[in-house]
This record gives sequence, C-alpha cells and structure tokens, in this order.
Amino acid sequence: MAARPDYIVDIKGLGHPTAQGQKNNGLRGRPWLAVQWKCCSVYSRIYRNKAGTLYEGRCPKCARPVSAQVGPGGTSNRFFEAE
Ligand SMILES: [Zn+2]
Repeated sequence: MAARPDYIVDIKGLGHPTAQGQKNNGLRGRPWLAVQWKCCSVYSRIYRNKAGTLYEGRCPKCARPVSAQVGPGGTSNRFFEAE
C-alpha cells in the first residue's frame, strides 16, 4: 500500500494530440479541390491550408498561385478552374 501513488501520471504530450480538430494533419486525408489550369492546360489538386479557410495551390507547370475560399460564400464545387 505504501508504494502505491495516489495520483495518475497522465502524459498528454505523447501519442495523439487532442482528438478534436486534429484529424487532418498532413496531406493525407486533407480536403482538396481538383483544378483545371487553363494557363497550361493541365490538371492537379490543391489542398486546404492549415487554418482551414482557403484552398491554396500552384500550377504544376508555371507556378501560378491560386486560392479558393472555404465555407459560406465560397465554393462548394469540387472542381475548380484557374484562369
Ligand atoms: Zn500554368
């Protein structure tokens, strides 16, 4: 009995971060949009930024940046055309 601690050490820094809102770490499982790049007639994906406010990406050929807003007033389209 004497050797038994009366508290529990809860190491929160190890393993998974807090469960909520941390599901989309990294590119895997992260929301994306399909983009048709009219500038170069190519097709690629752009991914949502860390803040979750925009989809951002660059043309794979000419590196032209594009962003698409997320949420109300933004697009719900999964397919996006960049001029
Ligand atoms: Zn381009």
